[in-house]
Amino acid sequence: MNLQDLYQEVILDHNRSPRNFRISESANRRINGNNPLCGDKITLFLDLQDGIIKDVCFQGSGCAISTASASLMTDALKGMPEAKARETFKHFHAVVTENAEPNSETLGKLTVLAGVKEFPSRVKCATLAWHTLEAALNDSHDTVTTE
Ligand code: ZN
Repeated sequence: MNLQDLYQEVILDHNRSPRNFRISESANRRINGNNPLCGDKITLFLDLQDGIIKDVCFQGSGCAISTASASLMTDALKGMPEAKARETFKHFHAVVTENAEPNSETLGKLTVLAGVKEFPSRVKCATLAWHTLEAALNDSHDTVTTE
């Protein structure tokens, strides 16, 4: 199995059984995100306490890339300080939009999504959850849209 197949397998697995796919009643931030280009929709629940992401989960419907990305993102973020979450997004965004070399130490499992940069129409699918997260961290209440 080559690396590309392995990445593909991880994405399919997270799409089939997304992690943290639930509603949280205790989250102190809740925000919706939309990617009209593809029809991806997400509701993100974030429990932020003293600058630490105590819990993060999501609901929604969308394509395999958007679901896998939200699943991988929520897995990566749990227990992470807010500042590190913002840095991780900045790097992830640079990898998929500016061809930055992926740093696997920063990205961890999220590295499997680096390949979407080859498919410009899917980049918004991969970044929707992250844009929604950023808005939640900023305590915004407006629906996030990738358009
Ligand atoms: Zn999509």
